[in-house]
Formats: sequence, structure tokens, C-alpha cells
Amino acid sequence: MTERYGHFIDGSWREPGSGEYFASRNPTTLETLYKAARGDRGDVDAAVRAAARAFDRPSWRRLSATQRGKLLRRLGDLVAEHSEELARLESLDNGKLLREMRGQLRSLPEYLYYYGGLADKIGGSQIPTGDVDILNYTQREPLGVVGAITPWNSPLTLTTSKLAPALAAGNTVVIKPSEYTSRTILRLAELAAEAGFPDGAVNVVTGLGAEAGAALVDHRDIAKISFTGSTRTGSAIAASAAARFIGCTLELGGKSPNIVFEDADVANAAMGVVAGIFAAAGQTCIAGSRVFAHRAVYDELLERVSDRARSITIGNPLDDATELGPLAFGDQLDKVESYVLLGVDEGATLHSGGSRPETGLPGYFFEPTVLTDVTNDMRVVREEIFGPVAAIMPFDTEDEVVRLANDTEYGLAAGVWTQNLARAHRMAQRLDAGTIWINTYRAMAPMSPRQGFKNSGVGVEHGIESMYDYTRLKSIWVNMDEGPVADPFVMRG
Ligand code: NAD
Repeated sequence: MTERYGHFIDGSWREPGSGEYFASRNPTTLETLYKAARGDRGDVDAAVRAAARAFDRPSWRRLSATQRGKLLRRLGDLVAEHSEELARLESLDNGKLLREMRGQLRSLPEYLYYYGGLADKIGGSQIPTGDVDILNYTQREPLGVVGAITPWNSPLTLTTSKLAPALAAGNTVVIKPSEYTSRTILRLAELAAEAGFPDGAVNVVTGLGAEAGAALVDHRDIAKISFTGSTRTGSAIAASAAARFIGCTLELGGKSPNIVFEDADVANAAMGVVAGIFAAAGQTCIAGSRVFAHRAVYDELLERVSDRARSITIGNPLDDATELGPLAFGDQLDKVESYVLLGVDEGATLHSGGSRPETGLPGYFFEPTVLTDVTNDMRVVREEIFGPVAAIMPFDTEDEVVRLANDTEYGLAAGVWTQNLARAHRMAQRLDAGTIWINTYRAMAPMSPRQGFKNSGVGVEHGIESMYDYTRLKSIWVNMDEGPVADPFVMRG
């Protein structure tokens, strides 16, 4: 019988008010893995109320920052203990390689340890105002209940990137995971309870974006929304948050350039291009989907990338030998395929891939694909495909490639491959993106902040800066002069 999961609210499992559940499928075998509760406004309200009560209770409010840090570190230990279980659950749910998930699970506890360590190191300061009788100091306070809405491509990592700093700063959290990947987030909430977080500190309401997601965004007791997902949804969330003057952190889409200069180690750069667009079947926000190769190395790079693409082992993500698993769900496969057809319609050449491969499995597989004869005005080059599709274009000069690379609505990340040190740093200055990788790609760490520029986002994730985003700043003025007020009609400095 198919397993069924309710919401995780106030430290325990809760049936959905509507009694409705939805199925989550394994994208490799198309079997139903489990059913999750279809959350509605009532369920979201129950979760937000539980989080608000937990926020006000002394068991959380009067917990010292050091104690919050200890809880986060304990959760990190539990995640490490359960890493194989979590890696498997997520791989089954979204088709990510088990190998990659094991790698993610090795670094996931580090996010919890990092913010656990930061919890008692973020404070205010004393301000020298110029009046010796005034003590002015600032303090950072938690915001209240944070709503976290996350996508399906790396649910555990992307959710932990919000949960850890939000809890470290003293907030309580209601998470609405993607409807395609509820399971590992429910398990994470269970582990948070086991770690000792008080009831209501971490809540999960599963369900659809337009229902549970929208209800969370609209809830009047939410102090901040932290969202990772598409630019379109992010824009709607930002509008709703703006109407109520609540903050939001938005980590959105990308169409990142990966630039190979004539002085690069082309063999390495080719592997960097493969890592940028074919790892995780291209289903990453930071996918290096626009590849620019200097004309002097264009042919060599193209052949190296397409040779590797053709030899990629496609199959079951649980097998150690597999390099490319399925796309996460059927609509995603249709979308990727239709973009490739559109590209060809627009005049692109299908250099390699482009089809649904024969794998002997019923899942949503798509070949690693390379498009050439593409130009910056084509939709396949402008729009996020979120699949294993690279558009490779030649360029002649540094100025030209800077102009082409920056000519996009997005600004999430960029890669540069060169052995010229001056050029490497110059490019880092000139590229309009929040993360720049020189001679590497897809590198990430909890202590390194990331921010999407332009339509790729608002606010910062990771690093100390992210924790600030989960606090509000209060300025406190204390008059230490006990003498009479000289003139009540003149503002005091
Ligand atoms: P999506 O926007 O469709 O959904 C993301 C989440 O929002 C899901 O939980 C969904 O249920 C919810 N949602 C959908 N509509 C909603 C609404 N009206 N109100 C509230 N919530 C709603 O995105 P997706 O397809 O799940 O994820 C892929 C996208 O995420 C890509 O664009 C990718 O680039 C982006 N992404 C960005 C980052 C980053 O760090 N910048 C990381 C990963 C993914």
C-alpha cells in the first residue's frame, strides 16, 4: 500500500483539513512513491498559528542564541546520521543521481553547523552619536514567522539554506516544499523535532503552489517570505509581499554564461562546460546554458563537449555508473523537448542529442543536447530551459563576449575559463552576475554569500549576510544625563 503523509505542524503529523492527498511519482519508473497532504488555507493557517505561538513561547523566545546554535548543530549531526536515507529519498523523488545526492548530503550538515556557529556571533553595535550623555546601541531581532517556499531540483539543500539562518536568528518557520518533492522536507522537520527544536518552530505544509503556496504568501501573520523558484512565481510573490510591506528573499532563474577564452586549458574548460549544463540533467538554476567559446578554440571545445555528451551514461539515478538521470516530471520533459524543437525552428543546428533516448526504463529521459548556429536573440538563448541543453556560440573579442554575456534578463552566475590572471579578474569585474567562477563551475559553500542580480533575485543566501536578512535592526537610545530637559521644542541629538 502507498505510504501517505500528512502535514508536520506543531511537532506532530496532521491530516489535511480537506482530507485530500496527491501522488508523488518516481520519474525513473513512473511508480507512485507516496501520497502527500494537499494543503489548503486552513492547513496553512494552522501551521502559521503554531509557528506564531512557538515564536512567543519562552521555550523558544528565551532560549539563548548559543542554545539555538546547539540545536542546529544537533540537527546537523542527525542529518549526517541519516544521510544515506535522505539521499535515497530525494533521488527517488526527483531523479537526481544518488552519487550527487550523497555529495550534497556530505555538505548539508555543514550548513547547519555554520549557522549554528553564527547564532551567537551576530549582534548589534554601540554607535558614537556625538552626544556623550547618550548611549545608542543597536540590536538584531528575529522577524517572527518566516514562510519558506522551495522548488524540486535540490529540495534539501535549498530548504536548509533558508531554515538554518532563519532558526539561528531566532525565527520560527513554515515550509511549503515543492509538490514534486515533499518527502525529504517532511523528514527534515521530523529530525528537527528529534534534535530538540520546540513544537511549532519548524512546520511543513505540503501542497500545490497556487493553493498552499499562495495561502502562505498571503497569510497576515507571516513576517517574511523566503522563496526559491521560477522568476515568474517570484515576481507574483514579491508583489504580494510589497502590498503588505513584508520582506522577501527571492532566489530565481538563470541563463548563465560559461565563457572559454583562447588561452584556456580547453580540455578542462570542456569538462567545466559539461559540469555546468549536463550535471543534474541541467536542472539547476546556475546551469551554464549559454556557452561562449573564442573562435580560435571553438571547434575543439565543441567537439570535446559533444563527444563527452554523446558518451554520457543515461539511466537509473540509483546506479553508480549513471551520469544522467531522468528529468523530474513529465511536463519538464515536454518543456525541454519543445525548446529544442523551437531552437531548430529558429534556425539553430542540432549538433548532438535532442531526443528521448532508449533506456529500457519508462522515465522522463532526455539526451544531453548541444545546439550551434544560435544567436543571442533566439528564445532558446534568452529563456531558461532548465534541462540538459547547451547553446554554444563563438566570439572574437573580450568586449564582444562581455556584451553578449550581459545581454540577458538574468544575473545569477557566470563561468570564465582563462589562464590569464589579469583577464580573469577583469572579467569578474565586468560580468553582471552575483556569482563568478574562474576555472571552475558549480562551486558552493554555506559561508559564501550568493545573490541573484537582475531578474535572478532579491536578497542574499548563504554567508553572514543571509542571517542579517532574517533579522530586523532596532536602535536604542538611553539618556544617561539625569538633569532636567533644557528645551522640549528642540530635537535632541
Ligand atoms: P516554481 O516557481 O514553479 O515553484 C517553486 C515553489 O513555489 C514550489 O514550491 C511551488 O509549489 C511554489 N509556487 C508555485 N506557484 C506559487 C504561487 N502562486 N504562490 C506561492 N507559491 C507558489 O519553480 P520550480 O519549477 O519548482 O523550480 C524551478 C525554478 O527554480 C527555476 O526557474 C530555477 O532556476 C529556480 N531555482 C533557483 C535557484 C536559485 O538559487 N536562484 C535554485 C534552484 C532553482
